[in-house]
Amino acid sequence: MAEAVFPLTGKRVFVAGHRGMAGSALVRRLASEGCAILTAGRADMDLRRQAEVEAWMAANRPDAVFIAAATVGGILANATRPAEFLYDNLMIEANLIHSAHRVGVKKLLFLGSSCIYPRLAPQPMAEDQLLTGPLEPTNEWYAVAKIAGIKLCQAYRRQYGSDFIAAMPTNLYGLGDRYDLTQGHVVAALIMKIHAAKIANHDTVEVWGTGTPKREFLFSEDLADGLVFLMKHYSGESHINVGTGSEATIGDLAACIARVAGYRGGFRFDASKPDGTPRKVMDIARMTALGWTARTPLERGMEAAYAWYVDHVAGPAG
Ligand code: GDP
Repeated sequence: MAEAVFPLTGKRVFVAGHRGMAGSALVRRLASEGCAILTAGRADMDLRRQAEVEAWMAANRPDAVFIAAATVGGILANATRPAEFLYDNLMIEANLIHSAHRVGVKKLLFLGSSCIYPRLAPQPMAEDQLLTGPLEPTNEWYAVAKIAGIKLCQAYRRQYGSDFIAAMPTNLYGLGDRYDLTQGHVVAALIMKIHAAKIANHDTVEVWGTGTPKREFLFSEDLADGLVFLMKHYSGESHINVGTGSEATIGDLAACIARVAGYRGGFRFDASKPDGTPRKVMDIARMTALGWTARTPLERGMEAAYAWYVDHVAGPAG
């Protein structure tokens, strides 16, 4: 492993969004880095309010910032709350990036999403596919905000020499996911539905869309490890994809969760619900060349996510 360009030992590291799945995984991962971890709750600072963010950053003066804070949600949430997905995310990233520049933050990592790429981008999607075609309409509001965040990091790097970088994770799942059938993502939704069907002895579970879209799923703890790796080892203008490089159909995913949960019934695919983009898999060549790969196979990650759900949300009796 090459020596870190930005070691974290002894640094003050602010994780914005520490209650979310990515942010909470970052806090766990940073515990072994010998740094002081700073977090702020909603009562301390509303990240959409410039004055509050500037005051907090001036008072706390972090050396490094991870922007894992965002208004996020699954395909239905994105399609039905476009104003929140665009406004909240633009404000959060603009306030954090600008105030980080003002207080002299030495390194910042902005977290985006694989939905920044065009709907029909060649697969796997490499970093240079950004802005080469129209976006997937179900999540273009979120995507436009995240593209603006990448561009903010590049602009502050060019104009002020700020070491601000951006990482684009693929679809996430894992510990601390949002278990909400209308607002959440597919893995959490299927865990909830499959667990409930198992407990109630139902013989069918409804899956949105056709079951044929392909997605790549990254475990929360692998994501956090990859982000800490980038913070320490990468400095550059291009955003970097963070994924596994392997994909599964939504039907495969449902079958995998059924195995993990011990559900033996079937599935009913509801084609009246949107499929979203037909295929989304990242080209991870740059991250691999930097020296990092994801460690957790899908089924093992699913076991951990399912156990977390049973322990923290559902209880063994559902
Ligand atoms: P996306 O990757 O931005 O499309 O986000 P999602 O995680 O919300 O959805 C991924 C895929 O899973 C889409 O094709 C959805 O139609 C499909 N899917 C199947 N069942 C569900 C469900 O119960 N909830 C969600 N959110 N997606 C589902």
